[in-house]
Amino acid sequence: MKCVVDFEKCTGLGICESLAPEFFEVNDDGDLLLLKEDITDAELQEVEEAVAGCPTEALSIER
Ligand code: SF4
Repeated sequence: MKCVVDFEKCTGLGICESLAPEFFEVNDDGDLLLLKEDITDAELQEVEEAVAGCPTEALSIER
């Protein structure tokens, strides 16, 4: 599974970073960095929470 970011929709609020810090980081300029793409079974729940928590629906999981 892979994590996908629609950077057009992302507003850099950083909610994803607080929910799944191994995957997402908002830098000092307010830009989101995707730290890694591949999602293991053990990480899936964490990333699903970040996807659900993103207010702009910028995140998705490619299965
Ligand atoms: S929660 Fe959504 S809008 Fe906010 S930084 Fe993450 S992807 Fe972007």
